[in-house]
This record gives sequence, structure tokens and C-alpha cells, in this order.
Amino acid sequence: MLYADVSWQPVMDAVQQAKQIHIVAHVNPDADTIGSQLALYHALKSMGKCVVMHNQDIAPYICRYLPAVDDITHGDVPSEIAASDLVIAVDAGSMGRLGMEASYFEDKILINIDHHASNTLYGSINVVDARYCATGAMIYDLLQHLNVPLNMGSASAIYAAVLTDTASFRLTCVDADVHRMVADLIDGGADVGLAAQSIYQSHKPARFELLKHALDSLNISHNGRVAWISLAHNLYERTNLCGEDSEGFIDYARSIEGVDIAVFIREEKLQEWKVSFRAKAPCDVGVVAGMLGGGGHQYAAGCTLFGTLDEVQEKIKHALVDMLNS
Ligand code: 5GP
Ligand code: MN
Repeated sequence: MLYADVSWQPVMDAVQQAKQIHIVAHVNPDADTIGSQLALYHALKSMGKCVVMHNQDIAPYICRYLPAVDDITHGDVPSEIAASDLVIAVDAGSMGRLGMEASYFEDKILINIDHHASNTLYGSINVVDARYCATGAMIYDLLQHLNVPLNMGSASAIYAAVLTDTASFRLTCVDADVHRMVADLIDGGADVGLAAQSIYQSHKPARFELLKHALDSLNISHNGRVAWISLAHNLYERTNLCGEDSEGFIDYARSIEGVDIAVFIREEKLQEWKVSFRAKAPCDVGVVAGMLGGGGHQYAAGCTLFGTLDEVQEKIKHALVDMLNS
């Protein structure tokens, strides 16, 4: 167990009483939210619970190797899923991140399990704890409280969540307890080689066309402290790729010596830009993203901004001023 002082009892009571449980991941899902969703699904199924998984958006291709990923449905909520009396949201910092109407939750208990410091506590039961390196690690602790042993499905899913949310165990939140958990996940059936191959070594060749454009746009400002990468919508159209195919590009910007903050600005729709921030200690980009209407963590955060690329860059520079002067 990573943190023994977390209060899981209300979650366990709600799970015991539920007739049908709907587990939901956030929009534009990453491997932490999908891994958390799948791990909980495997565990609750093994307890004999009736459990379904439905998200607004399709799971990213790096998660396709995870057991039961094909059981997740997406798009409009079908009536048989809407009949659930308990919803468990994983890794979503606000209700808006679930991509569903607030009315969907009116006749249901909503459990919010998340590790974002900026979480708005939108659930009827909230277990929010920013000490955790990944929501998947919270599910690991919950499974122990539920007395459900790991199986290949849950161990693989939690491993994928933790591997990706810690940038491959490179963040300072990765301590000895996280590694002890990983040892347990491997004993429980997580295949480290398969995870590495599926997550880091299965990219489409066209991704590297896009990467060329991204590196071409690399620009460093603020005396070497901020590195910028941007990709316009037409480059995605030309390569027939989407946002998930440029996952990880921002790490090139952060990896530069002297750079404290990396910014990746990706045009999702015309003049609608998805902005990603990455930081090195002691900078906190969660605060910067929060000022711009988004959220996230100290070292990884994001938001959506509108306008031309120049306008968006100006808004970001404005939000960065305080941090870079302190
Ligand atoms: P990414 O840059 O990988 O899209 O996101 C990095 C982190 O910031 C993730 O933890 C994600 O949950 C959070 N994040 C990204 N975009 C948004 C946003 O628009 N709103 C909020 N609240 N969080 C975001
Ligand atoms: Mn996460």
C-alpha cells in the first residue's frame, strides 16, 4: 500500500450497495485514465459486480494491448449504461473533463478518484490525493482495501498508468514505494516488455513526418528557459494523424539543457489550440495552466486557447511572467 491514511471506506460502501457501476475516463484519454478504468473493471468483475465502461472518446492506440480494452464503449451513452446507479470517474480533474452533461449524474452516486491538485471535488464522494504519482496507483491501493488480488488484467493496466504518468519513472514523485508497487505489479502479471513495445515502440511511420515539423518549429525564449513547439491543424490533416500521434513530442523540448518550461501548442480545430506544459523543478506549470482556464500538475499541465498562434503565444507569455520573474 502506498498511502495507508486515505479514506476509501465511502467508496467501498458505495460499491457494495451498487446494482450497476459505470466507470468513466476523461475526454482525450491517456494511459493513466484508461489503465485506472480497466484495473478497476477487472477488480470489480472479479468481485462479481455488474460493471460497465463507457467514455466520450476512444482509447489511445498505446492502450490497445491492455486486456478488456475492447469492452469500453464510447460516444453517446447507451440507455443500458445510463441505467447505472453508481458512476466512478478516474483521473478527471473536473466534471467537464468527463465530456458528459451534468444531468447524467443527477440520479446517480458519483465517485471522483483523482490525483490532480486542481481537482474541483465535483463528486458525491471524492478521493483526491495529489501525493499519488498516477490515478492508477490510487486504484492499486483501493484494490488492497477491497481485498482483491491483482490479476494479469489489473496489474497490466496499473503498470501502463504508472509508467506513462511518471514519464517512465523519471518524476520526483517516484519513490521506493512506487518501485515496490511496480515489483508487485510484475509479480501480478504485468508484462514489462509488452508494455514497452506497445507504448514506446509501435508508432506509425507518419508520426515522424509530424515530428520533423515539430522540431522545425522549436524555438527557445526567455534566456533559454522556455522551449516552444507548435503544430498547425493542416499538418495533422496532411499526415492523416491526430493529437495522440504527437504524444511525447513535448519531451524533446523539456529535455534541452537550461530549459525549465516546455510548451507544445497543437491546433486541434481551426484556431482552437490544445496547449501542453511540462516543467522541471522548481517550476509549477499547474498554476500557469490554471491561470489560462486549464489545470494539471506541477510538472505536466494543459489548457485550451483560441485565436491565432501569435495570439495564443502572447496569452501564454503573459501567464508565464510571474513564474519566470520569481
Ligand atoms: P497533456 O499535456 O498530456 O494533455 O496533459 C498534461 C496534464 O494536464 C494531464 O494531467 C491532464 O489531465 C492535464 N490537462 C491537460 N489539459 C487540460 C485541460 O484542458 N484542463 C484541465 N483541467 N487539465 C488538463
Ligand atoms: Mn493522471
